[in-house]
Amino acid sequence: MADVADLAEEHIEREAPYLLAACHRPVPRVAAGQCLYCDAEAPGLRFCDADCRADWERLQERQRVNGWQS
Ligand SMILES: [Zn+2]
Repeated sequence: MADVADLAEEHIEREAPYLLAACHRPVPRVAAGQCLYCDAEAPGLRFCDADCRADWERLQERQRVNGWQS
């Protein structure tokens, strides 16, 4: 049975590529018809749903904390 450290390591390994890719993707200042987090269609909006908005905000916070944000 996996302990908390194993689960955390699996989570980090699973999310790291997405977090790194997102770091290099420019963030538009205006809505471009696509969700800023998952690139799904979101006409006139910045996000396709509340979950993506929450995930994007969490990502921005992580980038800020880790000094990855320009
Ligand atoms: Zn989305």
